[in-house]
Amino acid sequence: MATPGYIRPNRPRDKDPLGPLEDGQTAIIIGGGPAGSSCAITLKMMGRQLGRDINVIIYEGRKFDDDCIKRVGVLAPPLTQTLEEIIGVPFPCQEVERKVVGYYLHSGDAKIRLHMAGKLSFVGHNVAIDRYLLSKAKELGVRVIPGRIESIKFHPDCVTVESSLKGAKGLKGDVLVGAFGLDAETAYLMENVTPYKSPRAMFSVVTRIPADPEYMKKYEDYLHVFLPTTLEDIEFGVVTPKLTHFFVNVAGPAVTRDSLERFLSLPEVRETLPANISEESDVIVSRPLPIPLEPAQNSFGDRYVTVGDTSGLLRAYKGNGINSACLTGHKAAEVMLRVGISLHALREYHNSFSHIVRDLPYGRAVRQMTVFAEKYGMMPEALRAAAKDRALLDVLIDFLSGTKTYREIVSDAGITKLSVKFLKGLTIST
Ligand SMILES: Cc1cc2nc3c(=O)[nH]c(=O)nc-3n(C[C@H](O)[C@H](O)[C@H](O)COP(=O)(O)OP(=O)(O)OC[C@H]3O[C@@H](n4cnc5c(N)ncnc54)[C@H](O)[C@@H]3O)c2cc1C
Repeated sequence: MATPGYIRPNRPRDKDPLGPLEDGQTAIIIGGGPAGSSCAITLKMMGRQLGRDINVIIYEGRKFDDDCIKRVGVLAPPLTQTLEEIIGVPFPCQEVERKVVGYYLHSGDAKIRLHMAGKLSFVGHNVAIDRYLLSKAKELGVRVIPGRIESIKFHPDCVTVESSLKGAKGLKGDVLVGAFGLDAETAYLMENVTPYKSPRAMFSVVTRIPADPEYMKKYEDYLHVFLPTTLEDIEFGVVTPKLTHFFVNVAGPAVTRDSLERFLSLPEVRETLPANISEESDVIVSRPLPIPLEPAQNSFGDRYVTVGDTSGLLRAYKGNGINSACLTGHKAAEVMLRVGISLHALREYHNSFSHIVRDLPYGRAVRQMTVFAEKYGMMPEALRAAAKDRALLDVLIDFLSGTKTYREIVSDAGITKLSVKFLKGLTIST
């Protein structure tokens, strides 16, 4: 059934109006997060290399101020490489507050240390990367409009948008890029005028806990990941040290502030934090923030494409959201410049992330096994078994580092061999 408001463009016989973007054509991008900015930067830079000047307009409805909590701010590998070698901008070293050399994985009273062997992550301000990439886009001539898009219309030969800015005129573009994250209102707008369907999501609640800078200086450069055995609504929680505070976040299908409070009172979590945290007055807690669990449906079509979280094209449960946002933004721009802006042309964009789509069943199975092991108290024993076995330890490192797909991890390690080792570990330790 056709979606109301979505008109399939007419195609003149001599020229394909949905072919590669041409000199002087306009791309309108909704959202100035890492996906929108990366798309804009590539449209400008690659467009120029191809001898075309594309008008690129980003609408961004939010001020990225210091109190805005949008994410934790872990810049995990291979983001350095993605920015420098693919997008073509320097990695923002000036924004790095701390380097991370590994993880402590906790469950109940068990804890193991996973050293990332040179695969460093960096911790920065939670919205610094957005500000940085948006400034790079502006330097290249991208027009950034500080307002929210409130209306989208598709016409046979263009797409028009209107924003919340008082007195601002609606704008017309040749293609629309949805880079609005999982913003529910904007997804609704998009779903009303295209066949797009927003991805299913889980949620995370984040808090920022101030700490004495001297205490933070002595704190090890490790993230603490918790797989709680007693809190059913929490799939995992993370304590991330920064320069002057900790970020603590919990994730699950329906986590709330209350879940976070209960998480903070777990003895193993208290041990990783300073003793007097509850007395601090300027603790900020976010509302539940969505994280996509799977790809969106109809995430591209004639004259529109979605990127980053909006597309859901990211490795499930791996937490490399910023890197995926940059990669999808870049690839969508490349396909619009080289192949076209039709449903058919944009399939090439989607297909280049097929390894992510194929990995979903594996990711889902790993998630279900983890939730099961947490619920039935098997996770602490699994961690103790891994502490004694290098192969199991390597598997955990691969799961956390996010450099391999779940499918690769499972086939490299040999699932039968792994299960036997894990079961042996359980029998020895019980
Ligand atoms: C709690 C939490 C912690 C996380 N921590 C990390 C982490 O440490 N490291 C990591 O790599 N990833 C992390 N992620 C994931 C990461 O934040 C996302 O994957 C990434 O931000 C996706 O980028 P994006 O550009 O697709 O969307 P977003 O970053 O969500 O950007 C979308 C932008 O669109 C704007 N927008 C929406 N609607 C409109 C509209 N109608 N008009 C104009 N503008 C609009 C929004 O204001 C927003 O700025 C975390 C996610 C959560 C929820």
